Amino acid sequence: MSESILNGYRVLARKYRPERFSELIGQEALVRTLGNALSLGRLAHAFVLTGVRGVGKTSTARLLARGLNCIGEDGKGGPTLEPCGMCEPCQAIAGGHHVDVLEIDAASHTGVDDAREIIEGVGYRPVSARFKIYIIDEVHMMSKSAFNALLKTLEEPPDNVKFIFATTEIRKVPVTILSRCQRFDLRRVPADELAAHLTGICERESISADAEAISAIARAAEGSVRDALSLLDQAAAMTADALSAEGIADMLGRPGRQDSITILGAAMTGDAAAALAALASSMANGAEPEMVIADLLDLVHRASLKAAGGSLDTLLEVERAPVSDLAELGIARLGRAWQMLLKGHGEVTSAPQPAAAAEMLVIRLAHLANMPTPGEIVRKLAGTEPPTPGQPAAPAQTPVMPEAPIGGDAEAPAEPLADPTVPPADPTADPPPAMMMAAQGEVPAAPPEAAPHSAPETDTPPQPTSLLEISDLADRHDQPLLASLIRTHVRLVRLQPGLLEISLTDGAPDSLAGDMARQLTRWTDSRWMVSLSEGPGGRTITEDRQAVRRQQRDELAEAPIMKSIFETFPGAEIESVKPAGQEDEDPRS
Ligand SMILES: [Zn+2]
Repeated sequence: MSESILNGYRVLARKYRPERFSELIGQEALVRTLGNALSLGRLAHAFVLTGVRGVGKTSTARLLARGLNCIGEDGKGGPTLEPCGMCEPCQAIAGGHHVDVLEIDAASHTGVDDAREIIEGVGYRPVSARFKIYIIDEVHMMSKSAFNALLKTLEEPPDNVKFIFATTEIRKVPVTILSRCQRFDLRRVPADELAAHLTGICERESISADAEAISAIARAAEGSVRDALSLLDQAAAMTADALSAEGIADMLGRPGRQDSITILGAAMTGDAAAALAALASSMANGAEPEMVIADLLDLVHRASLKAAGGSLDTLLEVERAPVSDLAELGIARLGRAWQMLLKGHGEVTSAPQPAAAAEMLVIRLAHLANMPTPGEIVRKLAGTEPPTPGQPAAPAQTPVMPEAPIGGDAEAPAEPLADPTVPPADPTADPPPAMMMAAQGEVPAAPPEAAPHSAPETDTPPQPTSLLEISDLADRHDQPLLASLIRTHVRLVRLQPGLLEISLTDGAPDSLAGDMARQLTRWTDSRWMVSLSEGPGGRTITEDRQAVRRQQRDELAEAPIMKSIFETFPGAEIESVKPAGQEDEDPRS
């Protein structure tokens, strides 16, 4: 790369360094807070600015130094959020040669001696400015003894001294220091805001660039204004023509977005050959395999957001349609692709031949696309797919818990994720419990029918005949806390109409038996007594469920269905076993 291009790198970043707070890109919250502090005269003695590199910490620190010391064009102004830029302090600080504003890079001055120098200097009044200001960049790099020396000064700072610390790693700054600072977090600038900023600069600089090219730079900069401007510089220096997405992709070693869309689209529809061809063309254009996979991850992420009901506003016009198409695959498949790509990204990074690893990954992705999701496999093998339209589903028996789903949420999703082309269910088949798989990030949809409600509502309330029915009653009367306490703490000793004998587990609230008696009487319109017994009693509902689940999991692990699932999804584990129709593990049980 030629010397002139290298020299050109920082031109834009320097030229467009913000001169006023209103020009700080994407830091509106910080500017508002600072403005309030200034106008109220509530200025801290020390500030700490934190954020990733290139978001504007140093620019903000210098602006703040100017704002604190600006005297206005007439020489009479006070501290301000709008430094005039004309007065002597403003100009000297902007030029980096104001005698009272000291910039220290802690990365190169980490010793205690430097801190001592600072402290000795703190004792002297500012030479000409209102405040003596120390800007300490990368403050987390200071040694422990330097921090200690600094701390003494921060504890009793002279009125005319201000400290402005900047750091990329706020966690490495001692709390004793942080607690004496006003803290400002500079956020990463979102890609669309960066793109808008870049577009404006391109117009002023007469750089012609299409929207895709700008968007590619903004994405690559990952929230850093400085990186974005440096990349724009670099790209503009490399060609006299208009900047194009392909040109930017070449420069970054990143895949063109269109290539990534083609790879993912083909892989997710099971077309391994087309996906491999697109991958080969992308790499032939100079894209690093690792970058290709990272871009696929980004696309899957965006498609998942869309599938979950999110908006595509931050995407370019040309990307919206393909991402919408991907979103149609549904969250289950996208989630599985995400898991595979994420794992594969690590493999590609560490593989001796990253290109080969990327190809293997794309092949696996295409192979996976042809597979039903674990939820579909279970339903298919078990013969419990959703019924064809017009044919009522066999009510899903629940071998585990014959009661209605806890929490009153008896609604299964109207549109299960199952492939509607699989043959209809055999209604005579004995459906096994649905299950949840852990390894592939897959959440199987519940079958369409919820478990039947246990007891129909009638005029004379039914009398409960089991602990389960009692906890159900509590749920149905909108007392989830009581229901949960019953499930967790109550062991049944004896139950007959009007009389409940229980024992309680450790940690049960004292009032539980009384509450149960009162509420049972209310729910059933007949008098109930609840007595505490010394007897051991049975298992609590929660213990019962755990035992059943353990047993089911053990049985299930031996079942042929699971054998085939384990073969299809190496590394999969049975995380939990649920009755069909129950959407999630009940968090209260
Ligand atoms: Zn000024």
